[in-house]
Amino acid sequence: KANRKFHTDDTVIDINGIKIGGGNFQMIAGPCSVESREQICTIAESVKNSGATMLRGGAFKPRTSPYSFQGMHAEGIELLLEAKRLTGLPIVTEIMNISHLPLFEEVDVIQVGARNMQNFELLKELGKLQKPILLKRGLANTLEELLMSAEYIMAGGNENVILCERGIRTFETATRNTLDISAIPVLHSKTHLPVIVDPSHSAGISRLVRPLTLAAIAAGADGLIIEVHNDPSRALCDGPQSLTPRAFEHLASESREVLQLM
Ligand code: PEP
Ligand code: MN
Repeated sequence: KANRKFHTDDTVIDINGIKIGGGNFQMIAGPCSVESREQICTIAESVKNSGATMLRGGAFKPRTSPYSFQGMHAEGIELLLEAKRLTGLPIVTEIMNISHLPLFEEVDVIQVGARNMQNFELLKELGKLQKPILLKRGLANTLEELLMSAEYIMAGGNENVILCERGIRTFETATRNTLDISAIPVLHSKTHLPVIVDPSHSAGISRLVRPLTLAAIAAGADGLIIEVHNDPSRALCDGPQSLTPRAFEHLASESREVLQLM
């Protein structure tokens, strides 16, 4: 179902009137994790004013250490919904366990994180919904494996899948991951699904988010998902790769300029 061979037109996914794919570009921004009402609402208003069209924020966080902040869980989703009511921005947040699905009723886009890309039972359950799924590429998965994971969701009847390249593990240690820029044109040739890029997790360093963002747009990405925090040095997760609202405002404006050239 994901194969371009049997579906030549680009898929356009409609998220409360916000279209992505087939020439429709969208900018998703927000903190790695929801930390408080004030934090998520402040960031939401600011990224909206800068041109973001969707809000991201984690409530269930897949942390490497069990002693790291794990997210605000149900309360985090409640706060995202408040930010959505305040700004009108659709919200994107990660699911880690299908038993939490009832909490995602009013979530606009459900994210499957890199670590769950091959959690096939989770993918099958999400395939029973009609809600858009943002499927991130696993840390060490091939594009063929990413497409097969999309197929798991689509096979169940949910064809609203957005693919996300977020950097992969390589021998290079200068960056958190290595952005596989060729994933964008390769995926576009193999599938009709929208392809977005996460330059924040690819880089791991806020200074590198700008060049990776501009490169992703030039390579044909249908959108971006960028981490923005109002106080990166005090962020509970992924501060070093988070842009300040001001840096995001500047980057969003440059992104529109590069998009014009495409
Ligand atoms: C995230 O989006 O904050 C995240 C955990 O991403 P990934 O699954 O790509 O590491
Ligand atoms: Mn993060």
